[in-house]
Amino acid sequence: MSETIEILDERRLQILEKGKDDRSIVCERASTAGSVSQRACVFCGSRVVLYPISDALHLIHGPIGCAAYTWDIRGSMSSGQELHRLSFSTDIRENEVIYGGEKKLYAALVELIDRYRPKAAFVYCTCIIGLIGDDVDAVCARVQREKGIQVIPVHSEGFKGTKKDGYRAACESLFQLLAKDEQSSVSPYTINILGEFNLAGETWIIKDYYRRMGIDIATCFTGDARISDIAKAHRAKLNVVQCSGSMTYLAKLMKERYGIPFLRVSYFGIEDMSKALYDVAEFFKNDGILQRTQGLVQSEVTQLLPKLAEYRRDLEGRKAAIYVGGSFKAFSLVKALRHLGMETVVVGSQTGSEEDYNYLKEITNEGTIICDDSNPLELSRFVLEKGADLLIGGVKERPIAYKMGIGFCDHNHERKIALAGFEGMLNFAREVHSTVLSPVWKYSPARMKFARLAQQNEIN
Ligand code: SF4
Repeated sequence: MSETIEILDERRLQILEKGKDDRSIVCERASTAGSVSQRACVFCGSRVVLYPISDALHLIHGPIGCAAYTWDIRGSMSSGQELHRLSFSTDIRENEVIYGGEKKLYAALVELIDRYRPKAAFVYCTCIIGLIGDDVDAVCARVQREKGIQVIPVHSEGFKGTKKDGYRAACESLFQLLAKDEQSSVSPYTINILGEFNLAGETWIIKDYYRRMGIDIATCFTGDARISDIAKAHRAKLNVVQCSGSMTYLAKLMKERYGIPFLRVSYFGIEDMSKALYDVAEFFKNDGILQRTQGLVQSEVTQLLPKLAEYRRDLEGRKAAIYVGGSFKAFSLVKALRHLGMETVVVGSQTGSEEDYNYLKEITNEGTIICDDSNPLELSRFVLEKGADLLIGGVKERPIAYKMGIGFCDHNHERKIALAGFEGMLNFAREVHSTVLSPVWKYSPARMKFARLAQQNEIN
């Protein structure tokens, strides 16, 4: 690694330092050529959103390499069927690139539907399908007629934009599954949960809170979701949107078509978790629900605070860098770290909007670096400059932290520990504590070298 780490000129406006740069951040644009963006492609964005639907068939129409993101690294859990754990691909090769892949797609769909009897099927279009021009809609419509289940094309060709465009393609596909059930009864206190993917069972934690409040759930988009639940989601009274980057578009579509209002919430950290429950309770204007919510929050927080205090004693004054997919999660992490006595010195996201970054500016301290669509070299430089003891990110950020010799906390889809809800906050504190205080870092050559370089001011 070079002794000096330069920022690409084209990227400078996508980075700012609070208190130093009095301007808005540039964001929501295609990644800069030459910058190794941490963003995944459009297809990956759609797959993240739709994959947790566990009784549907998920077929990737494209070369086998596109299917590399399997359940193993997107570990959404199911309480029943687990068809989503199987990764299917049409394995497009040279022959189909020349003569077209429609026949292969048709054959794959028929075979898989006959063998697995899914409740619906999603067909993900990848880059090459966009290039060769297969009529995926026509094949899906034919199989739908023949097999009697919904077969939905997901127009997620990787080159079409950013991961955010993949979220949008997924929302459009989900929208087609709505309003198929007008018979089942729903209570007047029914909500949908949007943007919660049941990583490490988090959807079950959140559902349990709502149940204790007296709230019913029509469906969760898409953690532990079933096609039959999605069919009645249009009759819920409120949509509660967590991962707003991925699901606000669906919430807007449902508001427009079915008149369902929506709230943006976060289930990470004490403040945001409590606020989410209170916001939902207040929406229904029901004294019983409100009282039960107060009781729930009070009892959970009372149990949690003394346990957090133990971790805080050791973590007080430590510094953290955050780099996550959606900025809403970053808001909660800044607040959650504060509860542990830690300061956020670097914070960024892959898909934040100008409004999101303005809010991050509001809630962080002077000197905090805020960045959009960053790359590994930049992140390394910021971590070093600001002396972070911890990096919070996903699978692609983990090696950065380890190379720099600092602690790492996985807050992405690969994790196996629940971090949402009150119990998730305790797990988060435990994980941060064990990684930041691990004795291993003092033996890291990188840490020793970087500390020396930083001292000598040799980093530009
Ligand atoms: S960018 Fe294209 S080729 Fe690569 S994984 Fe995404 S869809 Fe497949």
